[in-house]
Formats: sequence, structure tokens, C-alpha cells
Amino acid sequence: MSVYQVSCPGRTLILDEEQPLLEGGGFEPEPALWCVLESGHAGLHHTLAQGLQGGEGVPPVSLWLRWAEGAEFDSRREILPLSPCPVRFLAGTLQEDACGLPEAHAGRHGFEFGPPISEADTTPYWLL
Ligand SMILES: [Zn+2]
Ligand SMILES: [Zn+2]
Repeated sequence: MSVYQVSCPGRTLILDEEQPLLEGGGFEPEPALWCVLESGHAGLHHTLAQGLQGGEGVPPVSLWLRWAEGAEFDSRREILPLSPCPVRFLAGTLQEDACGLPEAHAGRHGFEFGPPISEADTTPYWLL
């Protein structure tokens, strides 16, 4: 979830009918979100729409919103759970950091094109 532009200028809005889907998760759903992938990436834009903490045997889930360039609100737009990218920065050290993007994402890893801008851009530890 990014309420600020990180890199890619792609931007979308959470539709009224999508709001109920995003209630009750780890984030306060934000109505306007920036794509979190690297600027100039191939394929669909992606933004983290919500994190569901799980519990009682249910693993935490990241719900991603993805959409095609110039087609923010058509039928190719979807909200779906995606696994996190497994690549970690400085794995095994104190500075270890997660990529924060979905598995098999386009462009460079999240830690390669700039740090989170605010608390709202940081993925909760229980999703990593
Ligand atoms: Zn994008
Ligand atoms: Zn990655």
C-alpha cells in the first residue's frame, strides 16, 4: 500500500464496491494508491491493498490490487492474494530487509530503488 508515489507513476483508486473486501485487515484502507513497482516496469501495475493477519492456522495474506496501464477500472483490474517476493536484502545480517513486493514482480526488488517513504509504506512484520 502506498499513499505516496514510490517510483512508478501508476495510480488507482479503491472503488466503493471494493471497500468492504478491504475492511478488517491490518491497514486502514486508503482510497487512492500508487503502484509500488519500479518506474518503467513491464506488465501490470501493483499496489498492496490490504494485509490480513490470519491466525488460528490461517497464514497472513497480502491482498494486492493490480491493473493494466490506462485501464484502471476495466475487467482486467483485480484484487487477489499474492505471495511475497522471497528475495531479502543482506540476508542473514542485522540489516536484512524484505523486498516487500509480490513474488515474480517486474522491475528491481523493493529495496533496490529507494526506502519506504513513510510508516504507511512499510509492510507489517507479520506479512514478511
Ligand atoms: Zn506501475
Ligand atoms: Zn523482489
